[in-house]
Amino acid sequence: MEECFFHTGRAAIIRCKQCGRPLCTDCRHITPHGIFCGVDCGERFEVFAMRAEENEEKRKRGMPRWLFSFLKFLGIVICLCVLYVILHHFMGGGGRVRWR
Ligand SMILES: [Zn+2]
Ligand SMILES: [Zn+2]
Repeated sequence: MEECFFHTGRAAIIRCKQCGRPLCTDCRHITPHGIFCGVDCGERFEVFAMRAEENEEKRKRGMPRWLFSFLKFLGIVICLCVLYVILHHFMGGGGRVRWR
């Protein structure tokens, strides 16, 4: 096993999640995001994780934008088709009434 980054001679039991330094039980800094060598690394990781999350959300939101406008366009076309069929049917376009 590796030596602790801060204590020579002490066995490291874990690595910092952010910088990868080997840490002993006394040096590990436990946060909800993981175990780090100090507060700095924890904060850095948090910022990194937040940015990654933001990017993920942007990707999720950005992807279907064209799809969304396409569906909107499709909806308008379908509405126009339905309107046309209804008008054609009820106004008797061409003078014919089919249900008689
Ligand atoms: Zn670290
Ligand atoms: Zn240590």
